[in-house]
Amino acid sequence: MGISMFRFELHKSEHVSFKVCSEKGSLSDVHKIPRRIFLATIFSFSLGVSACGGNSASGSLTTSNITPSQDFEADETEVNSPKNEAVESESAAQQEKDSETLTRSTEAKDTDTSTTVKQSAKAEREPKKSKWVAPTPDNSLPRVPEIAINNFTRLATADLRSWTEAGTSHINWWHSDITSFIWPIGSEVGGPNELSEPFNRFRVSLDKDSMDKLTSAYTTFSDNAPCLNGQRANFGSWQNRNELNEGKRRVLGWIESGADVATAPVPCFSSRAVTYAFPEESTTAQGQHTYLHELYHALSSYLQDYCTNGGALDGDRFDKLRWVGEGTAHYFAYVVAAELNGTDDAAETMLRDAERGARGGETLSSAESAAAALRLMVERGDLLEEDIMSARIFETCSWPDDWQASIPSVSYAMNNWQEIESRSGKWVFKSSVLP
Ligand SMILES: [Zn+2]
Repeated sequence: MGISMFRFELHKSEHVSFKVCSEKGSLSDVHKIPRRIFLATIFSFSLGVSACGGNSASGSLTTSNITPSQDFEADETEVNSPKNEAVESESAAQQEKDSETLTRSTEAKDTDTSTTVKQSAKAEREPKKSKWVAPTPDNSLPRVPEIAINNFTRLATADLRSWTEAGTSHINWWHSDITSFIWPIGSEVGGPNELSEPFNRFRVSLDKDSMDKLTSAYTTFSDNAPCLNGQRANFGSWQNRNELNEGKRRVLGWIESGADVATAPVPCFSSRAVTYAFPEESTTAQGQHTYLHELYHALSSYLQDYCTNGGALDGDRFDKLRWVGEGTAHYFAYVVAAELNGTDDAAETMLRDAERGARGGETLSSAESAAAALRLMVERGDLLEEDIMSARIFETCSWPDDWQASIPSVSYAMNNWQEIESRSGKWVFKSSVLP
């Protein structure tokens, strides 16, 4: 698995080339597909995906007939928690007023149902009340994710599109719509500006008209979050309308204050965003890497928010493993960039950057260092690159179990990632840290 086949929904008759998978690991066939342009500077398109499972690489190019409400076909799991009741009623109660949503969510916050494991444990102690389980590849029907790109930069939208397609084609369980917002910023101006936090402050370079279009596009995206308007199942009740508005306010603040944003907001489990302010001094290659990094976050199903009730529960467990989240995203960006650019230097570039960082005193908390630690695990045979690239690592909330420092292969990589040297003009791990 890990291969995707795409079909674009037909919107308009403008044609561009589009790649679909033909066999394992390759993107080769080029088809003509339509795209839709809805604003001069905003480009949007939709695509369908279904897994090219083993023998079905040439299977039909049709999308599934699943309606939105069937996004997640949950197994029956018995739980008794206010949160789950809230989730069910939130899911069903379309267009409820904010205050009602807030009330339900407040009740929900007291109960931890963030993982299937925890739910099951609770079910043993408490009587049945409702059925709900976190979506996984095993209990979910495939759906047809959509991609929309809102591009205001000098980067070619066709490039952003091909980067997105190349990235998503690696993902084993791609279930979430991805909406990208990419806009330009000028040079760094520094100085305090709370609207920009936690990012740095750059010069705003969008003209007013484009700024209005960008903020309007983000507002529309956020306000139409499918998990809050009854279109799709909602779970993880931290994401109520009030919290969504807070998230929107922050992103709009970043946009309007010139923050050098690079992040992946997750308003819904099945609707995620890539937001990236592209600095004027950055190269296309830098833009590509950062975009792919954020795209990977958007494609990673269970990062911290969805496993901790928005950070309220057991946040430490995930905070300690930020390096895994950042390292995988960076690793993915190196590999997909090399694939897109027709080079085979992903590992070498990764180690070059990590070595430079190590010399500058970087620790595992930098994405470059973390990617090198993962690479060391791959080269030592402790981790499959495919598990990074397909985002299988993040398919359930139990993933931190596999990354505890008490696990020898993990601690070895955490302690030895910087053992890099140049050999015959290539950056490699020292033979002393390889088996
Ligand atoms: Zn990141």
